[in-house]
Amino acid sequence: MVSDTPLILFKDMDEEITWPCDVCDEQRPDVVISLRRATATVDSEVILEYRVRYCGDRARCQDQSRRLATARLMHLLSVMVSRS
Ligand SMILES: [Zn+2]
Repeated sequence: MVSDTPLILFKDMDEEITWPCDVCDEQRPDVVISLRRATATVDSEVILEYRVRYCGDRARCQDQSRRLATARLMHLLSVMVSRS
């Protein structure tokens, strides 16, 4: 039986979507948050990916996010290697 009550999801337009920046830990609006991906590849195939959210409007966060993404990815890889 199909319900005749349509499911409508109302989004409060005043409610801003925010994300925490992985560099400065601040909650920032969705529009200024960018995503950086660090990937580990083997024979051009992605075996591991790490994503870092950062403030796209802040030079410091942009800069640090590159380092952070690489550092976290390296850490994940070292954990994987030590377990194998
Ligand atoms: Zn930030």
